[in-house]
Amino acid sequence: MPEKLVLSDAEWRERLTPEEYEVLRGHGTEAAWTGCFLGTKEPGTYVCAGCGNPLFRSGEKFESGTGWPSFTDPVSPDAVTERVDHSYGMRRVEVRCARCDGHLGHVFQDGPPPTGLRYCMNSIALRHVRDEASLADAIATPDRTDQP
Ligand code: FE
Repeated sequence: MPEKLVLSDAEWRERLTPEEYEVLRGHGTEAAWTGCFLGTKEPGTYVCAGCGNPLFRSGEKFESGTGWPSFTDPVSPDAVTERVDHSYGMRRVEVRCARCDGHLGHVFQDGPPPTGLRYCMNSIALRHVRDEASLADAIATPDRTDQP
């Protein structure tokens, strides 16, 4: 895993769009059925929109019918961190990027095999990269100009 990325609030505001900031740093949730990766089936890897950390592979993406892009598993167990979230009177498990601590979404235990998990993600917290070269580039220069 790449080394931790720690930025000040001002630096995050500089780096992210207001909408990205609201989700990644403000723990917001994009409205259901609005995310740009909802129907994406392109092969590749989804990386963190904040820092370029590889998070999910297209092969683990599935149609959950929930209105958010969903995955059965992260690229590796140490790509994300998970913690119990009691906000809004619910007990949910929050998923964060292990590199920049950005909020990505939540994980639920009603997913399909083989894991039975549903990583329910915000599209805006993710970027899609097609190949290994783009992956290395995403980590090296995680600014928003490479957004398709
Ligand atoms: Fe990140």
